[in-house]
Amino acid sequence: MEQVYKNKKDCSGCTACQHICPNKAITMQADSEGFLYPVIEQKKCIGCGLCRDICPFINSESLKNGGQQNCYSCVHKDEDVLRASTSGGAFTALSDYILEIGGVVYGADFDEEFNVCHSRAATKEERDRQRVSKYAQSDLKDIFVQVKNDLQNGLTVLFTGTPCQVAGLKAYLPRHITANLYLCDLICHSIPSPLIWKEYKVFQEAKHGGGKMTKVMFRSKLHPWTRNNSNRGFIFEMNGDGTLHEDNIFYDLFFKVGTIMRPSCANCKFTTQNRVSAITIADYWGIEEYSPETYNPLGVSVILANNSKGEKLVYHMKQRANIKQRPLAEQLKHQKRLSEPVQYPDFRSEFWEDLHRDGFEAVMNKYVYKK
Ligand SMILES: Cc1cc2nc3c(=O)[nH]c(=O)nc-3n(C[C@H](O)[C@H](O)[C@H](O)COP(=O)(O)OP(=O)(O)OC[C@H]3O[C@@H](n4cnc5c(N)ncnc54)[C@H](O)[C@@H]3O)c2cc1C
Repeated sequence: MEQVYKNKKDCSGCTACQHICPNKAITMQADSEGFLYPVIEQKKCIGCGLCRDICPFINSESLKNGGQQNCYSCVHKDEDVLRASTSGGAFTALSDYILEIGGVVYGADFDEEFNVCHSRAATKEERDRQRVSKYAQSDLKDIFVQVKNDLQNGLTVLFTGTPCQVAGLKAYLPRHITANLYLCDLICHSIPSPLIWKEYKVFQEAKHGGGKMTKVMFRSKLHPWTRNNSNRGFIFEMNGDGTLHEDNIFYDLFFKVGTIMRPSCANCKFTTQNRVSAITIADYWGIEEYSPETYNPLGVSVILANNSKGEKLVYHMKQRANIKQRPLAEQLKHQKRLSEPVQYPDFRSEFWEDLHRDGFEAVMNKYVYKK
């Protein structure tokens, strides 16, 4: 087989094809935008077609739940958790339950260079590293294989990630081993390029005398949690000196310029109300209008319980968080990514050509400061 996907807009880089390949003929390789794609080593390929059969982009509808869905607001009872979370700490309430029953949690972490990659957490300390939205596509490496091993060894597993990652894992795992698997996805605007994130770090480190970033928080609670503030509050520390710097360039590239996300995000099959996971978490936009007494300046999460497993999780989360049922229509109104994928500006390819020719500072000057 030549290639797993026909067009880049049809591949989210979920790794399901890589791990299902019986002859280990597929590796994930970064393209010029820094996104990982499956590449087939032709001499190893036996042409079985499993890689295409399993693709969650091709089989997206069969992976979705259908059926009754309930919507909840969620505010963690512990203020320190709220400060360390992006919205209302739903992820911590959920993962605490799984860890307390002896399970393991998978989520997006940083490596020592602040590259985003998924990790496996068996303790709360390890899980804490998975908190907070990280706006770059995470490298899944062999995480799907680890999840499969954990389930086969009888462990309870919570896997969290973007909807396309959750769909990939669901497609990859044999159904008969998933009784103790809990899937949690995010309402996902789209996923930025790991290369741009790296270029941005290099730019900031050079600006600060060649030092090293030692702390990063994409959406800190420096400003009150509101929709208008959701594109602010990116903070970082250099060289462990205790000073926090706030900067908006990365957000401006992500949300205002809108050119740094994966091509498949504009063709996303999972930006629908019908979800692939048991539970979906996101920011409860609009809560101050619908329920002023529930609004909290440290954040409010929305939870969608998408099936009976999701409802079970919500029941257990209530020990740690204030959770109230609310009309789903509120989020259908506020969350565009429950109905349609992101659209790219027509200068997306011009942006990448400029980046490759002129470098990061040049595109920053051209697109962030002048557009
Ligand atoms: C790329 C991206 C786009 C998003 N788009 C929207 C949106 O359009 N609307 C909206 O309401 N909310 C969106 N969110 C979700 C929102 O930012 C919060 O993650 C969510 O509200 C949960 O917050 P929390 O306080 O419960 O927990 P937190 O502790 O803040 O959440 C951490 C969770 O996010 C996961 N996560 C973090 N970064 C990544 C990543 N790069 N890839 C995969 N999983 C990751 C972790 O695995 C963990 O499960 C997005 C998140 C990301 C990462």
